[in-house]
Amino acid sequence: MGRNAYSGFKVKHACGHIAFYERLLPQGFTDDQARLAAREGKLTWLEQRDCQSCHYKDQPEVRLDELRRRGLSVPDLPRLTGTEKQMSWARKIRAGKLDEVVSRYSYLCHQLESQRQRGTISAQVLDQRRCVYNRAVTQIVAHADAGWWIEQRGMAAADMLRHAVSV
Ligand SMILES: [Zn+2]
Repeated sequence: MGRNAYSGFKVKHACGHIAFYERLLPQGFTDDQARLAAREGKLTWLEQRDCQSCHYKDQPEVRLDELRRRGLSVPDLPRLTGTEKQMSWARKIRAGKLDEVVSRYSYLCHQLESQRQRGTISAQVLDQRRCVYNRAVTQIVAHADAGWWIEQRGMAAADMLRHAVSV
């Protein structure tokens, strides 16, 4: 890969995808030689890892597989839509939010099960509530619009689930 500082840097990632990096000037170097070496190091590091898209795609997929193992029919993670910049931002937000949503979901299911064990709710209520939670998670996962994910960035997982249920 060429190292042309004026036209930016094309990096071929470990996953095989090629990404373009415009500004790669490590800060905090008074010596130009050291600065160039640091940039070279950064480029080599980038080449050794997956591109952003692949990196952030795997994390939520692992979470969704957890849900599938619990018997939920979770749809495939949709391809995000929006501008390149929005999608890149939304990918990170989605990975983090799905993490939170899945752990919140697990917590809620656990709560239901212990309520059922204590006899405070019936088996029927347990099933109904679990159905509602399942639907909420499925609905959240299905969102493809990058803008939607960006809007949710400050939203707590509990609120996202509650909102999905009430829609
Ligand atoms: Zn990739």
